[in-house]
Amino acid sequence: MTQTPAGLPPARTPDGRAGLAAIAAGPSRALIATDYDGTLAPIVADPAAAVPAPGAADALAGLAGRVGTVAIITGRAAADAVALGGLASVPGLIVLGHYGAQRWHAGVLSEHAIPPGVQVVRDELPGLLAAAEAPAGTAIEDKGTALAVHTRRTADPAGALALLRGPLGRLAAKAGMTVEPGRMVLELRPPGMDKGAALRALAAERAAGSVLFCGDDLGDLAAFTAIRELRAEGVPGCAVASKSAETPSVAEAADLVVDGPAGIVRLLSSLAARALRRAARVTQPGGQGRTRSSPRPARRRRQACTGRR
Ligand SMILES: [Mg+2]
Repeated sequence: MTQTPAGLPPARTPDGRAGLAAIAAGPSRALIATDYDGTLAPIVADPAAAVPAPGAADALAGLAGRVGTVAIITGRAAADAVALGGLASVPGLIVLGHYGAQRWHAGVLSEHAIPPGVQVVRDELPGLLAAAEAPAGTAIEDKGTALAVHTRRTADPAGALALLRGPLGRLAAKAGMTVEPGRMVLELRPPGMDKGAALRALAAERAAGSVLFCGDDLGDLAAFTAIRELRAEGVPGCAVASKSAETPSVAEAADLVVDGPAGIVRLLSSLAARALRRAARVTQPGGQGRTRSSPRPARRRRQACTGRR
């Protein structure tokens, strides 16, 4: 049975252990991606004040250049996450914002066209909240390609969420949008836009040989599903939960559960340290007799099976 590589927290599933082992054995072809809020940055009442846990940017920078691809996949605007996180200096970092509708890389932002339903929601949401008697503290967050309704600052966040679920569902249906639940938030966004699709597209683009994704919320479950799909296609992977009492189903669906953003930072730092040690081993004279650009025989066999590079 595959063991979790030394120095990494133990994955609780065999597939998760195999994913971590594949990343440790071949970091130069690994895709390591993470959500932002609740995963890299602790949840706070004001989304505009969500800054990363200590060491997060350093951990990402430590991975950069040592693993194939480092990415953030978030519901936020990509530029928001870069600015809030202080991430502009992480070499090669790819930030997929708005669930993949936006992409930031090397300081350049690109995005897909915004579906017209977004404007319908934008126009009608304030009146809908008033008509539904949404309690004080209910807040609209306009993300550009999606609109989120937050109840965390109301007197009864869960009650407010229950009150608004029906009306928001009807507005979404009218506008051709979907409602995605999250931690004390309901988000109306265009259909087909989710973190699973974003992760799969990035894995294909980067010809990832292994994939790890970290998330904390219901919207991250689509990325966990993508990890399982990739595994079925021969690409090892590991789904990591940043544990939260608000979303126990995310931890239940994960291969590895760590203790909030601080645990995620420790995991990413450990992966970076392992990749650094491996790079030192394979490049030293007389080390293992091969370089990072020389695939191992086992990897070539898998490529032959799956057709993936
Ligand atoms: Mg999150």
